[in-house]
Amino acid sequence: MSTILEPGQIEASAVMPPFLHLPPANLFELRAARLERLAEGHALGDYLRLVAQLCHLQQRLVDHPPSDLPVAEARQRLCLNHGLPPLAADSLVREGAWLVWLQALIDELQAPASGPLAEALRALRASDETQRKGWGIALLGGQYDAVPPALVPFIGAALQAAWSSWLLALPATELKPAGSLGQCPACGSPAMAGLVRNRGKHNGLRYLACSLCACEWHVVRVKCVYCESSKDLRYTSLEDDRHAPGKAPLRAECCPGCNTYLKHCYLENDAGGDALADDLASLALDIRLDDEGFQRLAPNLLLAPG
Ligand code: FE
Ligand code: FE
Repeated sequence: MSTILEPGQIEASAVMPPFLHLPPANLFELRAARLERLAEGHALGDYLRLVAQLCHLQQRLVDHPPSDLPVAEARQRLCLNHGLPPLAADSLVREGAWLVWLQALIDELQAPASGPLAEALRALRASDETQRKGWGIALLGGQYDAVPPALVPFIGAALQAAWSSWLLALPATELKPAGSLGQCPACGSPAMAGLVRNRGKHNGLRYLACSLCACEWHVVRVKCVYCESSKDLRYTSLEDDRHAPGKAPLRAECCPGCNTYLKHCYLENDAGGDALADDLASLALDIRLDDEGFQRLAPNLLLAPG
């Protein structure tokens, strides 16, 4: 474990940085490939490979969406005009258009004959719509303890596939910053992780990746995304002999002001970084920071905490 201070970073460009970085249409395929790479020789390799399988399924759903955008154009327009997220997770999860995505995911899943995964799928298949909707509402509301832990990745995967597909169908370039730095402008969900981008007009800029729809929005660097303080921020990475100090591809921005942290992928140090995959592959860092008393506020919808 090394702790290094990041030099005060001046934004890479004097012109207004692009507010959005939208995910590509094959985002889940790229994520699956990243997870499969990270799984090699990893202590949680089997788990990462299981999540990779889920990502392949998510990609199939996005390629063949079981439902269209559930928000009519007039409502999108109204939201955009008022600076509200047009894919607001808290209301859309209750309206339930995502449930056909969960059913499609369940239909595509191939369960092993026995074991914990088979059991989880049996419980999922036996559940009715009211139950499923309740789980979705709980998961997006951060109430992980109201969802059976083994079911979290499946519910989370269906929600993500639906929201990402809807995001890609939105006139999203008009999105405005949400009420707080760590909140997605498209769906209002909290950020899962940050990415310091390495290419083109986004080079050197920090984007936060949404835990639900995978939209990325710009936030200036060296600023706590939760309390907006820039004081005494500290950057912590997992000890890794392959990387020189300050060159770690994944670092947590830790804020002593509010005792929280958020992980960041530094794409200049590893261009293949993916917010969700790299987050899951670095759970050891969460354990370490938890020991140090830092609180994690960023959800990962494919993992039940603890
Ligand atoms: Fe979002
Ligand atoms: Fe803070």
